[in-house]
Amino acid sequence: MNHQLFENWLLSEEPLSPQQSAELREHLHTCQSCSRLQASWKGVEQLIREAPQIGPAAGFSARWQIRLEEQRRMLQRRQSLLILSIIGSPALVLFLVLGYNMLVQLRSPGQLLALWAYRMLLALNYVDAASDFLTAFGTTFLNTVSGPVWLFILGGISVLTVLWVVLYKQLTSPQRIQI
Ligand SMILES: [Zn+2]
Repeated sequence: MNHQLFENWLLSEEPLSPQQSAELREHLHTCQSCSRLQASWKGVEQLIREAPQIGPAAGFSARWQIRLEEQRRMLQRRQSLLILSIIGSPALVLFLVLGYNMLVQLRSPGQLLALWAYRMLLALNYVDAASDFLTAFGTTFLNTVSGPVWLFILGGISVLTVLWVVLYKQLTSPQRIQI
């Protein structure tokens, strides 16, 4: 029997004609040697398909994604640092200038404490005045059922606004206070 022909057909990468396939199948049923060749050839093909060199190792895309994510995060961190330094630098300069001015104006921590105590007292005075006003306002409001209530409310709001503006200016202008 001509095994060579069937062996060629088995190892050939060219597709066989239907008739050749039928002949090969028939021969494989009866020939052990060609059956073994077919089995081992299939095994080799399987090995080649599953060889790690052929495709990327398992988890390649996952690892790639992780690396991409890491690179993206590093870029973001660098950008945040840049933005922070752009915003932070003027603030730091301002802070240093203000701190220096304060140190020049007040040469001892005692003076600084006195200044802040003075400001606190001032603020408390304003809060006291405001609460006095609110108490008077509340009493009047309860007693006045009708009449120029809205005018009074508007007047109260204006007075409160003025009070707060004055308080704010007192607290934010150190030059006005001489110690
Ligand atoms: Zn054979």
